[in-house]
Amino acid sequence: MNIPRSIQQFITVFSGLPSIGPRQATRLAFYLIAKGPHGVKAFADAVSGLSSLAPCPECFFVAERGACPFCGDKSRRKDSVAIVERPTDVLAIEKTRAFNGVYLVLGDLPKNGAFSPDQAAKIARLKARGSVHEIIFAFDQTTHADFGASLLARELAGAAAKITKLGRGIPTGGEIEFADEETLGSAFNRRS
Ligand SMILES: [Zn+2]
Repeated sequence: MNIPRSIQQFITVFSGLPSIGPRQATRLAFYLIAKGPHGVKAFADAVSGLSSLAPCPECFFVAERGACPFCGDKSRRKDSVAIVERPTDVLAIEKTRAFNGVYLVLGDLPKNGAFSPDQAAKIARLKARGSVHEIIFAFDQTTHADFGASLLARELAGAAAKITKLGRGIPTGGEIEFADEETLGSAFNRRS
């Protein structure tokens, strides 16, 4: 079967995305083609718009230029830092409106007990910051995350007046990204 090269290329790229396989990528290609040139262009523009983003130099969330909306916001407490694994966790926490500090997007917690050089650098910078009142571990409720959190607590000993973690509420095995706003918000408020 001869599929046009441009479709083949599309499938190759898109099937590499999380939770999209070759079948979904193929369907997506034909869906867009059916939308006509304008539909395809709107999609292409939305994708290429992402290229103007880069990690925030402070917290490693995304930013258009320089600091992200949180680090650049003077009304947010810079002495309260929530550490999360993924940028999408930041969005989930923001939806709850339970937090008015800043973030540190650490990346996936290590499974093997060792932080990557990149993570070690982020941790070292946070320790060097000083004057941090609270560090909050805002991680998924999984044994893997618990293990990572205990390693991180050891690394960050003395880096803040207190280190807290989310209170009860998120079910065991639950990811904070998928917790409903109310549950996550109350877990945040009941941190200890
Ligand atoms: Zn930032």
